[in-house]
Amino acid sequence: MTKPKRLGILGGTFDPIHIGHLATAEAVRMEYGLDTILFIPSANPPHKQDVDVTDACHRYAMTVLATETNPYFAVSKIEMERKGLSYTLYTLQELLALYGEDTELYFITGADALAELHTWHNIHGVLELTHFIAASRPGIDKTDEIIESFGELGKAKIHRLTIPELEISATDIRQRVAEGRSIRYIVPDAVMQYIEENKLYQPKK
Ligand code: ATP
Ligand code: MG
Repeated sequence: MTKPKRLGILGGTFDPIHIGHLATAEAVRMEYGLDTILFIPSANPPHKQDVDVTDACHRYAMTVLATETNPYFAVSKIEMERKGLSYTLYTLQELLALYGEDTELYFITGADALAELHTWHNIHGVLELTHFIAASRPGIDKTDEIIESFGELGKAKIHRLTIPELEISATDIRQRVAEGRSIRYIVPDAVMQYIEENKLYQPKK
């Protein structure tokens, strides 16, 4: 990848990655003229420590399969390879060191993730380093209040983007697989095949 000037970041558990993630990333890329969108599967997400998360190597493999047909998409192991918890602040610092301090960062989140922003480790430090693009997600519309709650920094750095909302979540996909229902067209075909071949999300015996 040539060094991007405007870099989009989509961090997630991607358990599994689905078309909600992909369509959101593409919409933000177009709207903000981003050079690259980096998908960053989390290794040990601080907010999901108490639930079962599929092994990072599977989540990474599915993210690669889902993104490889889009030349503007890339996948990073930066959080999987770091020891300890995946704090966004450290990830952004590492990315700036890697791509150059003049790189403009655009951190993409769904409206649900934005609602938890105030719980993030050193969120003000994070907002100093990156823009946030809050993509609309069905049933959640607190974005304006959240922007307001961060004052001037919020107004300068958090932006809302209305996208065609897709009522798709990884939680629903895991449940569908466990119940033997179809996930075709909700995840890319290659991801569906990977899930089948590796027998992911089967009901617990
Ligand atoms: P889970 O149901 O396991 O929480 P998820 O579908 O929310 O999974 P995550 O990996 O948790 O997926 O999400 C990563 C990022 O993508 C978050 O910022 C989330 O808000 C965003 N996102 C996920 N699904 C959508 C969607 N359908 N539309 C817009 N944004 C989404
Ligand atoms: Mg989620």
